[in-house]
Amino acid sequence: MSFKFEVKASLSNRLGRTGVITTPHGQIKTPAFIPVGTKATLKSVLPESITEFGAQAVLANAYHLYLQPGQEIVDLAGGLGKFMNWQKPTFTDSGGFQVLSLGVGFKKVIAMDENTFQDDDVIADDKERLAHVDDDGVTFKSHLDGSLHRFTPEVSMQVQHQIGADIIFAFDECTTLHNTRSYQEKALERTRLWAIRCLAEHDRLTKARSDKPYQALFGVLQGAQYEDLRRKAAKDLSDMKVDGISFDGFGIGGALDKQSLGDILRWVNEELPQDKPRHFLGIGEPDDLFVGVENGADTFDCVAPSRQARTSSVFTKDGRVNISNAPHKNEFFPIEKDCTCYTCANYTRAYLCHLFRSKEMLAATLATIHNQHFIVGLVDQMRKGIEDGTFLDFKAQFMARYYKK
Ligand SMILES: [Zn+2]
Repeated sequence: MSFKFEVKASLSNRLGRTGVITTPHGQIKTPAFIPVGTKATLKSVLPESITEFGAQAVLANAYHLYLQPGQEIVDLAGGLGKFMNWQKPTFTDSGGFQVLSLGVGFKKVIAMDENTFQDDDVIADDKERLAHVDDDGVTFKSHLDGSLHRFTPEVSMQVQHQIGADIIFAFDECTTLHNTRSYQEKALERTRLWAIRCLAEHDRLTKARSDKPYQALFGVLQGAQYEDLRRKAAKDLSDMKVDGISFDGFGIGGALDKQSLGDILRWVNEELPQDKPRHFLGIGEPDDLFVGVENGADTFDCVAPSRQARTSSVFTKDGRVNISNAPHKNEFFPIEKDCTCYTCANYTRAYLCHLFRSKEMLAATLATIHNQHFIVGLVDQMRKGIEDGTFLDFKAQFMARYYKK
């Protein structure tokens, strides 16, 4: 087995730490931001650029690759990394979030307000319900062609083994903050039973495909905003053993709002073993990343830096800027003067403004490179801050300037 995690330095009086994850495709120094390449491509950028802006790994999505091109194709290609010409470590998320979020049409979980309403049959007004959960799995309609599919813990493991990422996630039921407490309890128990089935199927597939590089399986913790449920999930999954194997790491996911993010992380990381890595699913805003690192998360992923780039929203140390706005038309200097990314080294704000206004494809490429460089680099700086004892100073300085407005 060529997967391991070593803790290096720690933040004093806090859960934050640095470490190194070793996978068959190389190492990841943590904390680290992992860019998302949903369909085995980081939209609009070459793998060479991903390396150049500093990403140590990429995360693809099992649900999307299952629907298109199909996991058999990725397997025949030699696995995800080979298929997309990316030699470094890869992750896939289990598809649980996509299956369920597309199903009920809910938006980004973190943006929801738990106080608005509670209803277990929550559904967006203009959407047909596309997913149905039962104790065995989820039946869902493809968002591409409406065809009917079924994911169970076993299917998710089979799909993720064929896709072949270095780090894969257990299939979980992702709830929303709108669900009632009793439903959260029910979903948590379902996720626990699914985790046992994931470990068993993962063990079977690892043995059956012993010629393939080892894939590490992370258990996923749910429990929404409830401390007792979150702590229970962390304990249950830490102690879980099937045929002598246990989870290689943990994913922290599910329904949470911005205010409770630090608390939730603290609760679960106080329970989770120190010597296993923790991935915080779907987090990418600078303030959330600081809270995440401070409270002991090791890796993060989020579509936001790329998605925002494609809508002309670029990161600067003074906050996000819409680079297509008129004032940038004649700014003949880079997005950020001291940024070392390819975009800032070679192009002006005026040029980016022009590309976005004329709807040129290069606009997305250049803005994505800068945004990813900014967020990947920000978490890299947090890691260095823990190493040299300047994390809290760096945080205070960054936050004061970025959120000044
Ligand atoms: Zn830049």
